[in-house]
Amino acid sequence: MDKDIATPVRTRAILEKYGFSFKKSLGQNFLIDTNILKKIVSFAELTDQSGAIEIGPGIGALTEQLARISKKVVAFEIDQRLLPILADTLGPYDNVKVIHNDVLKADVKQVIGEEFPEFEDIMVVANLPYYVTTPIIMKLLEEALPIRGIVCMLQKEVADRISAQPGTKDYGSLSIAVQYYTEAETVMIVPKTVFVPQPNVDSAVIRLTRRESPAVNVKDEQFFFQVTRASFAQRRKTLLNNLTSQLPDGKQKKEEILEALKASEIEPSRRGETLSIAEFARLSNQLYPYFH
Ligand code: SAM
Repeated sequence: MDKDIATPVRTRAILEKYGFSFKKSLGQNFLIDTNILKKIVSFAELTDQSGAIEIGPGIGALTEQLARISKKVVAFEIDQRLLPILADTLGPYDNVKVIHNDVLKADVKQVIGEEFPEFEDIMVVANLPYYVTTPIIMKLLEEALPIRGIVCMLQKEVADRISAQPGTKDYGSLSIAVQYYTEAETVMIVPKTVFVPQPNVDSAVIRLTRRESPAVNVKDEQFFFQVTRASFAQRRKTLLNNLTSQLPDGKQKKEEILEALKASEIEPSRRGETLSIAEFARLSNQLYPYFH
């Protein structure tokens, strides 16, 4: 077996060989610690029958670890300059396919259908580019892909918001959006020192396990998310104030909003951050007829 790509010495040698310069705008912070990489992979609980989807393979540090453990890896990489490097570093692995594309533009569902036919277990595993963590996670969840879940590295601050519970400062519409689809947990905090170049912020690894059905029953998902976003628009404002100022024609519909709050047994003076997902579901289902 070749020496790991992610050792500091080998990483430096690869970068020098190709004269590679990091693009900050693409969130390029590469991992140079094989222990951390192995831990990330272990959180995904892959078997030799699993498929792995990676976003942003860089020079292949994580891809290699995934290739050793799973049946097949498909990795989306936006930066063309990395393609010849990946062809070189991942040469020893015949179960890896690199797709040159922006994952936000890719038809991931179609790729899964083509690349993972008859796979019963598919996980997304990634050290995400930090400038687009939230759009990538939301795309993967909203497209209802046939995946078991996502294990990814991201900014600790975003990990805190994703796994936050009601009543905490980090709890908001992102916590609800992600927890609606998945069970979310922060599984590891990662120091800056294991990256080149070092990012400015602390990092964490989260594991999102897709629920068999969403956490709550809502009449209309788009409206449910609209209500949660409206409720957190200004955190210091009451629920009633945020809903009247943020929902379409909310000011004219104040009486109806009060009715819906009463029917859902939620005090209008409460703040959005105190509501559980179940309460948001009840509220949006009561508001729905007044806004459609
Ligand atoms: N996986 C490598 C590692 O752990 O060392 C690199 C991770 S680095 C944080 C993020 C990677 O995502 C970079 O290789 C970057 O070029 C790539 N990337 C950035 N934006 C992307 C996008 N929209 N779609 C696909 N890849 C992207």
